[in-house]
Amino acid sequence: MHPLQSIGEHGHEEIVYFSDRGSGLKCIVAIHSTVLGPAIGGLRMWPYAHEDEALRDILKSSRAMTYRTALAGLNLGGGKAVLIGNPEQDKSEALLRAVGRSIGSLGNRFIAMEDVGTTVDDMDCIRQETDRVLGVHPVHGGSGDPSPFTALGTLHGIRACLERRFGHSEIGKASYAVQGVGGVGYHLVQLLRTAGAKVFVADINQERVEQVVDETRTEAVPMHQIYDVDATVFAPCAMGGVINEETVPRFRCQIVAGGANNQLESNECATELEKRGILYAPDYAINAGSLMNLAVELEGYSDERARHRVATIGGIMRRIFERAARDSIPSWQAADRLAEERIESIGRIRRL
Ligand code: NAD
Repeated sequence: MHPLQSIGEHGHEEIVYFSDRGSGLKCIVAIHSTVLGPAIGGLRMWPYAHEDEALRDILKSSRAMTYRTALAGLNLGGGKAVLIGNPEQDKSEALLRAVGRSIGSLGNRFIAMEDVGTTVDDMDCIRQETDRVLGVHPVHGGSGDPSPFTALGTLHGIRACLERRFGHSEIGKASYAVQGVGGVGYHLVQLLRTAGAKVFVADINQERVEQVVDETRTEAVPMHQIYDVDATVFAPCAMGGVINEETVPRFRCQIVAGGANNQLESNECATELEKRGILYAPDYAINAGSLMNLAVELEGYSDERARHRVATIGGIMRRIFERAARDSIPSWQAADRLAEERIESIGRIRRL
């Protein structure tokens, strides 16, 4: 099936293809939903072989963003943009400004942010043509490095998980196996250690592990053994797909809660985790700290307001677990339902 035929099926509002010979622009913007507000989405730059391939990619991720913003309680919808080209070779000021003019022409329907293949500098360049871009440099009102906020949100989410599973929310009373100590993982380890928790870490980058172990007094675990660690919480903070058929039977933890995106190989893996008595924190709910932080730029950035917003992740997680228990459904499904209900109810008011 041609990807354009699946637009109705995914419920997209609008797909726009921008092209400009002079700058070499080939850019597709997918607006999935603007029910809650302008659609926000990453601007990815990637050398797709064909437009169809790019389109397939953004149809899925723009829909996922609608769920993400809705569950995070933001007044934003879901979208995504792709710029077809090689970020190492094809980027130029003219191209980025052409992207800016294209996004600007959509009015208040789409807001772009950094993604794979684009940088803060690129957002600054786009900003010369439109203010419908977030994640610019802090001197222009940007929110800066998102990782500490993702880690902070994850910490709030972990508290809610502990409360659900053990009836207390004391971080220091539990132990943690953190996979990946890059931007998010490192900041999470710092927060956990500050609370006095026992932490095990693993990373593909051995030098990084040594640095983090040295600085935070944690224990290193060989990369492939992190799933087998006898810790209360497994916190995936590296790549996607780590909760899969091979790893689920190995887990000795009671909670899986981390900042990585797309943690589940399939929804069935999360259902299987829960059958084994392991509480799963849906990834797009617990790692929404970066998005919440970014959204604060729309009102004029303030670190205090960003932290206040990120703290709401605890309440969001609690609502997910309550709904899962009430409807006897897995937590990933409860998260989706809450997102759908918010869109539906706000959509109803807007139609009045
Ligand atoms: P990063 O690149 O800074 O860190 C990732 C770390 O994981 C690196 O240290 C890398 O060496 C390590 N790693 C890679 N493969 C590994 C493996 N097989 N086993 C163990 N370690 C491995 O990335 P980040 O910004 O910290 O993001 C981490 C995850 O969180 C990603 O899935 C990302 O999509 C997600 N996320 C990040 C943010 C953010 O604010 N940065 C926001 C939301 C979601």
